[in-house]
Amino acid sequence: KTVIDAHNIKKIYNPETVPVVAVNNVHLHLERGEFTALVGPSGSGKTTLLNLIGGLDKPDNGSVIINGVDITRLSANKLIDFRLHNIGFVFQSFNLIPVLSARENVELIMQLQHVKKAEINVRVTSLFRQIGLEDKMDVRPAQLSGGQQQRIAVARALASRPQFILADEPTANLDTKSADNLLDIMAKLNKEENMTFIFSTHDQRVIERARRVVTLVDGQIHTDSSPVSVHADY
Ligand code: ADP
Ligand code: ADP
Repeated sequence: KTVIDAHNIKKIYNPETVPVVAVNNVHLHLERGEFTALVGPSGSGKTTLLNLIGGLDKPDNGSVIINGVDITRLSANKLIDFRLHNIGFVFQSFNLIPVLSARENVELIMQLQHVKKAEINVRVTSLFRQIGLEDKMDVRPAQLSGGQQQRIAVARALASRPQFILADEPTANLDTKSADNLLDIMAKLNKEENMTFIFSTHDQRVIERARRVVTLVDGQIHTDSSPVSVHADY
């Protein structure tokens, strides 16, 4: 089953002044259950490509079809709603809401989706078990390590039951042990729940965990190892 089908997408920043072609004629097809790393030098377009696939930015050309819907043709409000229900985001700086507890951070997205309170409680319990932080539900992000915060961010991304999780340099601010632990959790979710992941990274240890590696150079796909529909290794 196709989850992401980006066709001939292009993104140009500052088209009127000093144009920067950040993503150029990219085709990218992802199937359910993939565990894909997006790699390439700094400035090669990884963040831009993830933003286009995640509907955080619009391409200047081409289409981005997520679960059969061309998100480049949605109105701004429809796009927000589509993202909420279909795409989970994990960022390098965690981006948890500091005044909310870990549990409230994870619950928020389900409240926005109007999930019933009883169902939210069931999902929260199960999510905190999956990330191994059952004992940290009621603390605020500042009381948690970076690795723990990023695990909360993964739980938050999963809470909406997305089609896929998109992670931009998820281990960039983590020490080696926390990064390995985060990858263990992501790989387990991939294997046991068939959750689809695409993550950008510079980290060789993280790249080695991917089943498919797509390399960008100057906004274009340079190499693609391309085995699809296979699970992460442990
Ligand atoms: P990466 O994530 O691989 O480091 P980016 O997608 O951040 O690459 O950037 C790709 C190119 O686009 C770079 O040349 C970068 O300087 C440029 N760029 C990124 N964001 C903007 C922006 N908002 N305005 C102008 N240029 C940008
Ligand atoms: P990364 O390498 O993780 O993509 P960057 O340092 O390239 O991070 O970019 C961080 C932020 O700055 C992003 O939001 C990106 O869009 C923006 N940015 C990057 N390059 C430029 C640029 N040349 N002009 C304006 N904004 C930029």
